[in-house]
Amino acid sequence: MNYNLHTHSFYCGHGSGLISEYAAEAEKAGFFLLGFSEHCPFPDNFLSKSRMPFASASLYEQDVKALDCSFPVLLGYEVDYFRNRRSYYEEIHSRVDYLITGTHYIFRKDGSVASVFDADLTSSDLSLYADSVIEAMSSGLFSFCAHPDVFLSARSFDKEAKAVSVAILEAAKELGMPLELNGNGYMKGRGYPSRGFWEIAHDMGIPALLSSDAHRVKDLAAPFDFLHSFADGLALDLLEPYMENGLSFRKAART
Ligand SMILES: [Zn+2]
Ligand SMILES: [Zn+2]
Repeated sequence: MNYNLHTHSFYCGHGSGLISEYAAEAEKAGFFLLGFSEHCPFPDNFLSKSRMPFASASLYEQDVKALDCSFPVLLGYEVDYFRNRRSYYEEIHSRVDYLITGTHYIFRKDGSVASVFDADLTSSDLSLYADSVIEAMSSGLFSFCAHPDVFLSARSFDKEAKAVSVAILEAAKELGMPLELNGNGYMKGRGYPSRGFWEIAHDMGIPALLSSDAHRVKDLAAPFDFLHSFADGLALDLLEPYMENGLSFRKAART
């Protein structure tokens, strides 16, 4: 039995596959729960290169709500969090099943924007990344934090990376915020999930929530063998979702 709460589709513009095709794949894989979490668009189409146009949001939402599956299907969004857009997020939060936060950009003080996937992130970029993730996790809007270690996509796990990891992990622990062990980085051969990051998580007693972060139908269930062996290798505890007054998480029994 498995589940996935971090699922994209053709809607985001850099993924493929219809909503109904993901649902069929989940059925085939024997999922007990499926959540769609497209990149959240903005009314002014901010960051539109990495997400659907704002005008498509209602089609996406209708498409997910129209599914009729033998397991619960949840409607959500993956949100890049900006403090000045809080009321917009609250409005979305009130009409969907859940929101997750994922930080994909670093907004530098000189006005330039870096991608978290860049290889040449500076120490100042890393601390902006940590600040942004921690602020998002503290907002109270999100069910979990996607790929907290994505800043290690193309970067070695050095002293600075360790400090950023500890800051994010300490905040998550304090907030009780579930952290995602992400399968998309593995599928793409990137530096996350990061062994260095998750070793510290283990030492701090922080469990992991597994997601495929699928952008192709065939990737919906594909990374889970890897994710389970990664987690086993570090003796990480796992979280699992369950439905009780909405989406909740509990520690999974060790297998
Ligand atoms: Zn994406
Ligand atoms: Zn993401």
